[in-house]
Amino acid sequence: MREVVIVGGGIVGLLGAFELTKREISATVIDESEGGLASWAGGGILSPLYAWRYSDAMNRLTFDAMARYRELFSELVGRCLEWSDLHQGGLWVHVDTKEMNTVKDWAGKWGVLSETLSGSVLLPSFPFSEGVFFPDLGNVRNPRLLKALRSYLTSKGVSFIKDKVVSLLPKQKGAALETQNGLVLNAENVIVCAGVGSSKLLSMLGVSLPMFPVKGEMLLYYLTPGRVPSVMLTQSGYLIPRADGA
Ligand SMILES: Cc1cc2nc3c(=O)[nH]c(=O)nc-3n(C[C@H](O)[C@H](O)[C@H](O)COP(=O)(O)OP(=O)(O)OC[C@H]3O[C@@H](n4cnc5c(N)ncnc54)[C@H](O)[C@@H]3O)c2cc1C
Repeated sequence: MREVVIVGGGIVGLLGAFELTKREISATVIDESEGGLASWAGGGILSPLYAWRYSDAMNRLTFDAMARYRELFSELVGRCLEWSDLHQGGLWVHVDTKEMNTVKDWAGKWGVLSETLSGSVLLPSFPFSEGVFFPDLGNVRNPRLLKALRSYLTSKGVSFIKDKVVSLLPKQKGAALETQNGLVLNAENVIVCAGVGSSKLLSMLGVSLPMFPVKGEMLLYYLTPGRVPSVMLTQSGYLIPRADGA
């Protein structure tokens, strides 16, 4: 059995390990945190925010995300995860009349259901009216998905090491990793999924990947479940509903 070491246990590293176990390739995940920095904090919207502004290549990667997440959930539900953590309440986007035709053309091309709808129809007193609603899109509850993936992977024999990789050096075959706690691993295959920490690690292999963190702000409100029925997106911010109201 081949062995792969994955640096970073956020959504990218865990889904990488998930795909490897399906191919009967054994994986070890090293993460300095409990797993997932951006992946824990992320809103979990399962589509680009303004998909029509992206290239076809990006759209090919993302247009069937809901269907693929339904498949993923069918394997994970019951492990700290409920079907309600995949919220299929739709995505409403504030779009002005100038952009509306582009949106309609995009939706037709990719077979995505859409309707022109005022924001206040979904959320009374919402101050933005012009917009488009995609009823088949939605969002996922990130922290629970991460927990479920870790539980699934552990049951499939994936090992997790809580440590920070401080050195990554190329070898004739694979790479040598060293951690903050002095662990040394020689791995034939290493996948770097360390989020914003990836640039530092990859620079040790001579690969330049200029990345930098961007500051944002997220607020958590407890509301009556269903009060915000769908993701509501405007240029100045967005609302993301959770099934339990949080
Ligand atoms: C507030 C917010 C909202 C967002 N909303 C959305 C959204 O709605 N939809 C969407 O698609 N995307 C969203 N994103 C973006 C999305 O969350 C990220 O693109 C995604 O989670 C990145 O996953 P990752 O696994 O690459 O990185 P991370 O989740 O950051 O995981 C990287 C992991 O690597 C570990 N690590 C780093 N360096 C080392 C090292 N040297 N040794 C060991 N471990 C290391 C870290 O501890 C971390 O756990 C949002 C992001 C934020 C911050």
